[in-house]
Amino acid sequence: MRAATTTIWIFVTLIFHASCAPSVIKIGAIFHDGCEEDKATFEYAVDILRMNRLAGQLVLEPVIKWVRGNSDGIGTAAAACDLLEEGVAVIFGPKSPYTRPIVSSITARYSVPHIEYAWRPMDESTLQSTTINVYPHSESIASAIAVLTKAMPWTQFTAVYETDDGLTRLQEALKLHGPKDSPITVRQLGSGPDYRSLLKEIAASREVNILLDAEQDNVIEVMKQAQEVNLMKDYHTYIITDLDLPGHPILKTFVNSTANITGFSFLTEKRDEISEALGFQVKIEAALLYDAVMLFNKALEGLNVANAETDTPLKLAPTSLKCDAKNFYSAGRNLTDAIRSETRINELTGPILIDKSGSRRNFELDVIEFHLDRFVTIGVFDDKEFRVTRSAKDRQEDIEKKMETTFYRVTTRLGPPYLMLVTDGSNRGVQIGESRYEGYSVDLITEVAKVRNFRFQFELVPDGNYGSYDEVNKSWDGLVKRLRDREADLAICDLTINHQREQAVDFTMPFMNLGISILYMKPEAEDPDLFSFMRPFTTEVWIYVATAYLGVSLMLFILARVAPGEWDNPHPCNPDPEELENSFDLRNSLWLTIGSLMQQGSDILPKAPSIRMVAGLWWFFTLIMVSSYTANLAAFLTTGKMGETISNVEELAAQTKIKYGLLGGGSTSIFFRDSNSTTYQRMWAAMNEARPSVFTKTNDEGVERVLSGKRGYAFIMESSAIEYNVERHCELMQIGGLLDNKGYGIAMPPNSPYRTSISKAVLTLQERGVLEELKTKWWKKMNIETVCEKEDAKSDADELELRLANVGGVFLVLMVGCAFSFIVGILEFLWNVRKVAVDEKVTPMEAFKGELRFAINIWAETKPVKVAQSSRESSSAPGPGRMGRAASAARSLVGSFLRLDMLDNFEKDNASNSKSGNQRND
Ligand code: ASP
Repeated sequence: MRAATTTIWIFVTLIFHASCAPSVIKIGAIFHDGCEEDKATFEYAVDILRMNRLAGQLVLEPVIKWVRGNSDGIGTAAAACDLLEEGVAVIFGPKSPYTRPIVSSITARYSVPHIEYAWRPMDESTLQSTTINVYPHSESIASAIAVLTKAMPWTQFTAVYETDDGLTRLQEALKLHGPKDSPITVRQLGSGPDYRSLLKEIAASREVNILLDAEQDNVIEVMKQAQEVNLMKDYHTYIITDLDLPGHPILKTFVNSTANITGFSFLTEKRDEISEALGFQVKIEAALLYDAVMLFNKALEGLNVANAETDTPLKLAPTSLKCDAKNFYSAGRNLTDAIRSETRINELTGPILIDKSGSRRNFELDVIEFHLDRFVTIGVFDDKEFRVTRSAKDRQEDIEKKMETTFYRVTTRLGPPYLMLVTDGSNRGVQIGESRYEGYSVDLITEVAKVRNFRFQFELVPDGNYGSYDEVNKSWDGLVKRLRDREADLAICDLTINHQREQAVDFTMPFMNLGISILYMKPEAEDPDLFSFMRPFTTEVWIYVATAYLGVSLMLFILARVAPGEWDNPHPCNPDPEELENSFDLRNSLWLTIGSLMQQGSDILPKAPSIRMVAGLWWFFTLIMVSSYTANLAAFLTTGKMGETISNVEELAAQTKIKYGLLGGGSTSIFFRDSNSTTYQRMWAAMNEARPSVFTKTNDEGVERVLSGKRGYAFIMESSAIEYNVERHCELMQIGGLLDNKGYGIAMPPNSPYRTSISKAVLTLQERGVLEELKTKWWKKMNIETVCEKEDAKSDADELELRLANVGGVFLVLMVGCAFSFIVGILEFLWNVRKVAVDEKVTPMEAFKGELRFAINIWAETKPVKVAQSSRESSSAPGPGRMGRAASAARSLVGSFLRLDMLDNFEKDNASNSKSGNQRND
């Protein structure tokens, strides 16, 4: 009886214990050698679950199997079978890509869930299997890498990978590059551990953008070696594909490197907690194993809770399975399905949701940058999208902070007033090499550095060029090349911002605005032209006027002979004249026309209608001609003071006398070379054909050629340089306006992070008026020996005043005319002397003396008819008779205007009249 009671008690106790003791579920894991940290994390996860277990929850019990080599398939299969035999509900691992498929196929066969936690190229279908991988799906990782690569301001890059898996991860990024993009380079790291030769080759290729996929344990070694071969300097930008960039705290040893390192972070802050508890830094795979345990537990608990509510509960506790028998884990499929799609957790590696195929596709990756000495999250990649989370302002602040610790290499070229040698031995300016330099560029960068608080050092560009692109060699020269090679951080001088350069380097906003124009000699004051009064009409017009004058005079003469109205009675008292006379002989005709042309009129005027008509038309002609002449005369006398010159680019292009050229290899030559305007194309062709060459190496050479070219050379240069030279060479001037509008900017290597900050500094200087001050200092104050007289200072009145030299010709004509008339007068006098000698039958000498004596006797108001005789008789003989005195009076009345023979005719007429009167009386 007592024994029966004891048996019943034991049975009841057992039942009680059985119902109260937690159900234990075994979970298996297979590790290869070297995965001790994974194992510790695995056990830690189980411990955490145990500690946090609530009443009624299942207890997990880890069963661990070790397999020696990474590729020991038989050992792995045996370990998996052992685990099944021990009755595990799930198998975690192993990590090795060689052994995990074995476990995957065994677990699939016995319906036991299998959870992987390492990357794998999930190309095979896993729908039928029971495998689940908590590592983000390889396609999603590849697309995250591609999206980040695309978000970088890279035009080209070098992709470096270590393993074939790495190359798979880079596939999407490599596909981004279209056929038209710059070529990209793909290199394999090699077997290591020395990667220097490959890294040196990359450094020699001047590549600055590197996409690196190395095994997690190798990343730091590769970076260290890259630093040794100068591949971790300014402007080097890395994307590290590792999903746990902050998992490399040693990166902080690169604190002095100015290289830009960007990567991903996958782990939450909880990792630090667990790392502390475990005593080591939990790496990504260990963290994923931790999450995998949590995920399995959640799925299991879900089924456990469901069991309590159903009449047909699942048998969650697995039975021992034999690899050579036909048996399987009855709840295995349910567990697998519960893990796929239904279970969500958010633990060490962020939110986990597994899809139906057992892959983890929806996950979040932080994009982080290693900045100075810390990691900064700049954005998030989720669902194929990269969202920038760090504000532009924060980024800018970081850059500005970085600038304060950066030492800038500023490249420049010699050329006044931007950079000039200090020759007076003083300590001004900056030291470049052995000598000291000063100028606008030095002052400007000093001001910018003050605003941004950075230090700098100048260096002269070795080839002295600004920067032009050689289409044949596909390379840049000058300052632009220096920046592109990252041999300098900034380039400053009169470097013009143009389209081609903008593609090659970065520019700040312009610090000076300008345009292309022409430098030429000022026009020389022309020697005053005595005959400038002739200039209102061309020689041709003068000839036509003279011809018209002669033609019209001749016409008057002819018409007058024909026109009866012009034939007059010479003696109006005689109503029946025997002869008629015509006043329009040739001389009078010429007199009338010249009189009206000179606006004086004439004492002989026409009477016949035809002649009046001709005269009227002539007067109309003279009216127009004289008005036009008068109107033009003033303008010609004043404006005609300057020598001939060109006044704009069209005139320069249209002529061949003045040669013109420009600085070779600069933006001005690019402007002409690429211009679509026919004028500029013609000029470019003319410049290229000109021999000797019209291109110069420097602006100074061009200015020198203009000065020494005796108005035979014009130099096309930028207006700022023209302004500078015109202030210093008073004989030079700018011709015409600007052919274009552009600016000078401070240049930087492509994608320079400092562009915005330096642009802002330039803007600040402009707003404060510093730029204007610097311009005035270097253009108008420094190095000026003689101040040029300003053209517009002269008054307009001065311009309009006519000097003797301008009107001297008119005086000359007057003098020559007077001299000529004097000669004509003498000839007339001599002619008269001969006539008197013949008429009065005296010797020519007597006649001459008599006439001369009378001529110089300025008190004699009347002239005797026979001057020679009267002068002889005045002392010996009585005076002339009544008739002779009358004739003498008449002669003196008409003076020298009427011809002596007319008077003779008059006498003859008188004689014949008295004779005929006598006859009539008779
Ligand atoms: N400033 C110019 C340049 O940057 C030089 C020039 O062509 O006048 O190329």
